[in-house]
Amino acid sequence: MPELPDVEGFRRVLAAHAVGKRIEDVVVLDDGVLRGVGARRLREELRNQRFAEPRRLGKWLIAPVDGGPVVVLHFGMTGSFDWAPGADERRKHDRVIFVFGDGELRYRDMRKLQGLRLVDGDAELERLLADTGPDALAVSRDRFRELLDGRRQLKALLTDQSVLAGLGNLLVDEILWRAKLNPHVPAASLDAEVVDALHREMRKVLRSAVKAERVPPRTSWLTGRRDEPSGSCPRCGTTLEHGRVGGRGTVWCPRCQPG
Ligand SMILES: [Zn+2]
Repeated sequence: MPELPDVEGFRRVLAAHAVGKRIEDVVVLDDGVLRGVGARRLREELRNQRFAEPRRLGKWLIAPVDGGPVVVLHFGMTGSFDWAPGADERRKHDRVIFVFGDGELRYRDMRKLQGLRLVDGDAELERLLADTGPDALAVSRDRFRELLDGRRQLKALLTDQSVLAGLGNLLVDEILWRAKLNPHVPAASLDAEVVDALHREMRKVLRSAVKAERVPPRTSWLTGRRDEPSGSCPRCGTTLEHGRVGGRGTVWCPRCQPG
């Protein structure tokens, strides 16, 4: 599932290949991914325009068009955004294609849970993102302390995009394992030093993952072991626990992360 590092990778794809180039065409292969805009209007508004520098908030990719509307993409559970040079064959789940002189940007999404929006300007963009919390890579230590309050379980809180934007299931489990914190504990039970250490570990994990453009399944990471039925903790060798927190499959080390 695309999380902050994956979407940061998609942002780089757009920045590297498409910014400043004329959009020759927009081909909608499946309008089931369009949200609040039809294929015809999307094409009319974007043809012959150029993308400006894209940005990201959490798992949202924000792609403004020079002097025009803003394309906002979300990748749901299965989405991706790839550059295909020349006439590479299109793939089964390609939904929207941005055609340029030297290649195509392809928005692909098997499950179509989220999609592509076209917003008119900053005010409408602000409304769309009003319920999105601060970006996990940009949030300051002080702001992070304020967010980590209340009775909610730590994992449920950190995966809530309205609290903090960008972290998904893999990242939160990885970060809590690094910080040696049990995913079930109430956020408000942590003292300030522990919260600061959690913020530090979050930044470290995010920096490595952004470099890899995914949560890397390295065997020295929890992520590399989590799918093994009786995988062991890369740090202490204890068999990992599997359970559910807030409805999400959760993995932790019972020794490093006692409840
Ligand atoms: Zn352990």
